[in-house]
Amino acid sequence: MRRVSRGLLQSAMARLATPLGEDELGRSAMVFAPHPDDETLGCGGTILQKRRAGAEMQLVFMTDGAASNPGLSSGAEMRMTRHREALEAVELLGLEPARVSWLDFADGELLLWRAEAVMRVSRLLHLHRPEQILLPYAWREHADHVATHSIVYEAIGRVGLAATLLEYPVWSWRHWPTIGRSGSWRKVHAVLAGCRATACGLRFLRELRTSVAVQDVLTRKRAALERHVSQMRRRDGDPRWRTLGDIDQGEFLACLFQDYEYYRRVELRR
Ligand SMILES: [Zn+2]
Repeated sequence: MRRVSRGLLQSAMARLATPLGEDELGRSAMVFAPHPDDETLGCGGTILQKRRAGAEMQLVFMTDGAASNPGLSSGAEMRMTRHREALEAVELLGLEPARVSWLDFADGELLLWRAEAVMRVSRLLHLHRPEQILLPYAWREHADHVATHSIVYEAIGRVGLAATLLEYPVWSWRHWPTIGRSGSWRKVHAVLAGCRATACGLRFLRELRTSVAVQDVLTRKRAALERHVSQMRRRDGDPRWRTLGDIDQGEFLACLFQDYEYYRRVELRR
C-alpha cells in the first residue's frame, strides 16, 4: 500500500507541475550546492539536460563537506576527498573543473560566514549574470541549505539581477508522507494524517510546480552520485560509516531518483 500511496502522490506532483520549456533548458544558469553531492542529488538530471541543450553553466559549492562522518575521518582528509569526488561527479554531469567554484566555508557553519558569503556570491553573480539560478529550497532543510538559500537571495538583491530562480529540495524529501517510518499501511496512514507529513505533501504539491523530465539521464545521474564514494560506500566496510543509502532504508534516495526533478519557481524582475 505504501508503494501505491507514493505512486499516487508522485503522479499528482507530475500532473500539477509545468515542465521547464525546451528554450529554458538552453538558458545560462548558476547552480548553488551547499555541500558536494547536493548538485547531483537535487538537480543532477537537470544539469545533464541543460548541458545537452547547450546551456552555459557554472556550479558553486558553498561548503567543503568536511563534517561528513565526524569522528571517523579527519576534517582535512574528508575535505580533500570530497573535493576530488565532486570533481569526478560533476564531470559526469557535463561540467568541466573550470566551471566549478569552491567557496569552502565550514560544513555545518555556513551561517556564521554569512557576510563574507554574500560578498563572494555577489561577485560570482555579477561576473556571470546567469539567466537562471538553481539553489536549495529552504523549507525544513539542513541548516547549510537554508543558509545558502538566504545568502543567494541577498546577493541577487545586491547585484540587482533579473533571473528565474529554481529551488530544489533535498532533505525536505524526508518529510514526504510516504518516507519510511513505517512498515504497514496503518502506520503510513498515521503518518499521512500527521500534521508534518500532511503539511509536506500539500506544500510540495502547491509549491514544487516546475519539473524537468530526467528519465533518460537517470543512469548517468546515478553514476555521478556513485562518484561521491565517501557518501555512498562504507569506508573499509566500517558499520559506523553512514551512507546516503542508509537513510530511511533507501527511500530518501528513491525520492531523488524519480522520473522528474521538481522546483519551486520564482521570477525576479528588475
Ligand atoms: Zn547538503
